[in-house]
Amino acid sequence: MSEHQSAKVADKPASKPDHFIQQIIRKDLQAGRADNIVTRFPPEPNGYLHIGHAKSICLNFGMAEEFGGDCHLRFDDTNPEKESEEYVNAIKEDVSWLGFQWAGNVRYTSDYFEQLHAWAVHLIEAGKAYVCELSAEQAREHRGTLTEPGKNSPYRERSVEENLDLFARMRAGEFADGACVLRAKIDMAAPNINLRDPIIYRIRKARHHQTGDTWCIYPSYDFAHGQSDAIEGISHSICTLEFEDHRPLYDWFIENLPVPAKPRQYEFARLNLNYTVTSKRKLKQLVDEAYVDGWNDPRMPTISGLRRRGFTASAIRQFCDMIGVTRSDSVVDMGMLEYAIRDDLDKNAPRAMCVLRPLKVVLTNYPQEQVEEMRAPGHPNREEFTERVLPFTRELYIDVEDFREEANKKYKRLVIGKRVRLRNAYVIEADEAIKNELGEIVEVRARVIENTVGNDPEDGIKPKGVIHWVSAVHNLDCEVRLYDRLFEHEAPDAGGRNFLEHINPNSLEILSNCKAEISLAAASSEQRFQFEREGYFCLDSKHASPTRWVFNRTIGLRDSWAKMDQG
Ligand code: ATP
Ligand code: MG
Repeated sequence: MSEHQSAKVADKPASKPDHFIQQIIRKDLQAGRADNIVTRFPPEPNGYLHIGHAKSICLNFGMAEEFGGDCHLRFDDTNPEKESEEYVNAIKEDVSWLGFQWAGNVRYTSDYFEQLHAWAVHLIEAGKAYVCELSAEQAREHRGTLTEPGKNSPYRERSVEENLDLFARMRAGEFADGACVLRAKIDMAAPNINLRDPIIYRIRKARHHQTGDTWCIYPSYDFAHGQSDAIEGISHSICTLEFEDHRPLYDWFIENLPVPAKPRQYEFARLNLNYTVTSKRKLKQLVDEAYVDGWNDPRMPTISGLRRRGFTASAIRQFCDMIGVTRSDSVVDMGMLEYAIRDDLDKNAPRAMCVLRPLKVVLTNYPQEQVEEMRAPGHPNREEFTERVLPFTRELYIDVEDFREEANKKYKRLVIGKRVRLRNAYVIEADEAIKNELGEIVEVRARVIENTVGNDPEDGIKPKGVIHWVSAVHNLDCEVRLYDRLFEHEAPDAGGRNFLEHINPNSLEILSNCKAEISLAAASSEQRFQFEREGYFCLDSKHASPTRWVFNRTIGLRDSWAKMDQG
């Protein structure tokens, strides 16, 4: 059983009710309307995938898996100017990383350009399509509005012969971009604007990443999509609710063309997540204008960004399972995504200690040259995790936040005259704070309480808290990047808001003088850890090297942990 399947079985209680797509598929199978479930994930390769796409991927691949069918990966590549091979490759990588395998080869709408063209000719021959020379603006005027019907184009009644000739010349490259389009002849008075003689082919003299210069006319999304579904034998064409109004057009093409199958479209509510944007256009702008460090910047809601941030594929799938599939639009709280990754990493990430803001502690009663090897479990309740060895020396680092000269009772860390336990090591007691000319604390003098490794102090004076530490001699210098939400506003692009004005200026804090336990020297790219008392971190896949350790904070620990020892 793959990791993915076992996660699914474990996370999906038998009692979980079917969502509406599962109900539809079950009924179709029972009624014999479908015998083989075939779905597809149809990204346009004009950007990287984001968390919203993950919902669609989990749904489409999930249905195929659950009902023993197939899911295709099909690039909806009808807009050559905006698309590229870089995006094609990134999308394939992300889908695979999420743990899904498409059936057969990767498919492209462009594989079907010849067939789609033949079907456009078929519509012309049937008197159901015409070449229209209205300018974009004139076409808009003719289209009408939601309350007023449109007007027929003056080119609507062209003869079949004339249309065939003009369309052939469009294909041959005789006309400039925008000079004319091929439109379906449906009904300019239809209440649904999508049926008012929609465009099915445009002239675009652009090189295509798959077909090169073979074509200078390209089918519209509406014309290409359903027919590609029919060619591939898609049984359930699942898309987001904004395509609901396109369904009558989807069905019109299927009814009016000699297609080999009759797929049906079903719509579900897209994922909206607060504190971020999930529009490829806006994400591209963040990249192009260098607000972020590429599409996989750990603050981006892209799959590759989440991955670089330290998210696991199973946490993303778990999140998609938690949010469910419905037909009502809503905004999901970022906290749910954070919950999913915390839950996963709590169970699966090995533990380590890393001091983010080091403060030196000198243990005045500990011998200068002595090194003791302390032992610590790799994980508190997973014995199969490798035990760590922590060298203990006279000079150590603790976090600046873990020492105060004086504090009230709620502060359970190191205070002068008080004791604290160093995690997996001794209890110590602080005696004195050494300051520089500016009055800043630069060192703490303390003492080890003897025989306290694994034991309470013999004098009965127990420490109130536990703090993390590393040896000041044997440690790993590293950089830690703390991320916060990319946007300060919970709905950065809603209501006509300019999302760029709501970027959080403090979304990245780089700490370049961190000290980690030496076991982390063996960390591999993207490996995830819990830094005890600090949160979950992973080795950055972009900036780390065999001699440089850069860790990204994936997410902090539970709030309850942080609250426990605030003073
Ligand atoms: P655009 O059309 O603006 O480029 P898109 O996000 O619709 O962006 P596509 O590549 O067309 O991009 O999306 C591929 C599939 O993912 C589509 O079926 C689409 O419905 C689905 N999808 C896109 N965004 C979301 C979302 N936020 N939630 C769920 N599904 C989504
Ligand atoms: Mg789209």
